[in-house]
Amino acid sequence: MTVALITGANKGIGLATARQLGARGWTVLIGARDEARGRQAEHDLTAGGADARFVPLDVTDAESVARAASWIEAEFGVLDVLVNNAGITRGGWPGTPSATAVDTLREVYETNVFGVVAVTNAMLPLLRQAPAARIVNVSSELGSITANMNPDSPMFTMASLPYPSSKTALNMITAMYAKELRDTPVKVNAANPGFCATDLNQHRGFRTADEGAEVSVHLATLPADGPSGQLWGYLWTADGSGGFGALPW
Ligand code: NAP
Repeated sequence: MTVALITGANKGIGLATARQLGARGWTVLIGARDEARGRQAEHDLTAGGADARFVPLDVTDAESVARAASWIEAEFGVLDVLVNNAGITRGGWPGTPSATAVDTLREVYETNVFGVVAVTNAMLPLLRQAPAARIVNVSSELGSITANMNPDSPMFTMASLPYPSSKTALNMITAMYAKELRDTPVKVNAANPGFCATDLNQHRGFRTADEGAEVSVHLATLPADGPSGQLWGYLWTADGSGGFGALPW
């Protein structure tokens, strides 16, 4: 049995990730903060033949995170894969750095940064029980400082604080966990799904949630000689040619 927890799995890229991992015969734990939405996702994936279980999980709520970890420990005693997928954006887009309220930044960081650390720390004892655990932090090329400062990158014209800087922080967090865990079987990588049509961007993305999920699934299923401490995924080139690989931090 392979057990994967996906946070923010009731819709979008998270739901697609759960569906794809479930199709491999894995037990997929649908982390969702809203019971009705989580149960609906559980129902839909189960109807499709997956072993899906809803787990109440608000990544910004320490008690909720602790309860989820206790439940997984009692139910399975182990966690093979953690996909830190839950994420939000706020403050308009692209937004103006000089007009950004600190509270807006704080709100985004609560989910995209602090939530990831809280969930990862709570789940690590269970991940360490697995023979080859994988942690996937769903980041974004918008968090890449290199891409943002490259005049040839589609990121170059964007200037916004909350979301991009939260993903930059997440990238560093990914690197630091990868270093802490480098002498263990646990691999930690950041995923760049590419610009996918979801509620996050009012469905303006040019990739599908399923295509974005393939990046998380790739990193969740890395072999023993796979990388750790990378930002990996969709390469958005100015000429639109696309592709996949490691991205600059
Ligand atoms: P989405 O459709 O808006 O889904 C976001 C998910 O996160 C929802 O299930 C949402 O739950 C959940 N969530 C938000 N706050 C939460 C919290 N405090 N606790 C638990 N769950 C929470 O967006 P998406 O595009 O699939 O985004 C998934 C991830 O991909 C995010 O990390 C995002 O930054 C990243 N990403 C997306 C794109 C893109 O183009 N779409 C590109 C790069 C990276 P509710 O339904 O309850 O709100």
